[in-house]
Amino acid sequence: MNTKVVLITGSSRGIGAATARLFAQKGFSVCINYKSNRNAAEALKHEIHQLGVKCIAVQADVSDEDQVIRLFETVDESLGTLSVLVNNAAILRPQSRLMDMSADRINEILSANVTSAFLCSREAVKRMSSQQGGTGGSIINVSSVASRTGSPNEYIDYAASKGAMDTLTRGLATEVAAEGIRVNCVRPGLIYTDMHADGGEPDRVDRLASKLPMQRGGQPAEVAEAIYWLASDKSSFATGNFIDLAGGL
Ligand code: NAP
Repeated sequence: MNTKVVLITGSSRGIGAATARLFAQKGFSVCINYKSNRNAAEALKHEIHQLGVKCIAVQADVSDEDQVIRLFETVDESLGTLSVLVNNAAILRPQSRLMDMSADRINEILSANVTSAFLCSREAVKRMSSQQGGTGGSIINVSSVASRTGSPNEYIDYAASKGAMDTLTRGLATEVAAEGIRVNCVRPGLIYTDMHADGGEPDRVDRLASKLPMQRGGQPAEVAEAIYWLASDKSSFATGNFIDLAGGL
């Protein structure tokens, strides 16, 4: 049996890294992707190699078309046929009201969080689609409960980028459903990662955790489990679906 191959964008840390670990534990060949944190990506690659599975770490800014094409070609050459794409990479900028947001900031968020997922999904569909000679596959988009809440007074730009991820999920799932490709989405909320420091408040999860029905923040591994389930044959009749992992929010 051929080993399945997963590409997880933005997997040098946080939810992406937890997802890479879980797929490796399940026997997948893993492509870690990162933009700048080479040391963390290489350390994770080394950790995954200890499990006896193939793993590569590829630097690529997934908001850049040429770099996305190179990333996918590297996966083709080094790991083989892509089975699963996880569109996980995203950025957050410091908390701000809309009236203080520049066009540069808004465009940077949309390009890093949305254009990236469109480009990576395009490359994945080219390889997976039965209409293109592929054998099918699964795409999982990492959105956020922010797509429902809108993140007022913090980062509406980021929340709107996640709204676009939800729409991409619905549209693409339907577009490729008859071509052997399933497209699903997870929507985490308040997960303990370094992303909150990028938003200007490293302890944000602890500040808000008690307001959640479950009264705690989530761990990256709890999100990874849902991503893995959506990628696996256990969810074989699910497409265009959403799993919220937000402690009841
Ligand atoms: P994180 O800790 O900030 O990690 C983000 C990852 O994305 C890093 O590996 C980073 O790589 C990579 N990245 C950023 N821009 C990139 C680009 N242009 N090209 C390639 N890689 C890029 O984030 P996280 O908290 O794990 O979040 C992961 C996903 O979950 C995101 O989609 C986020 O929106 C979503 N989410 C998170 C939470 C939460 O509470 N943490 C809640 C809801 C949704 P480098 O470090 O190398 O730059």
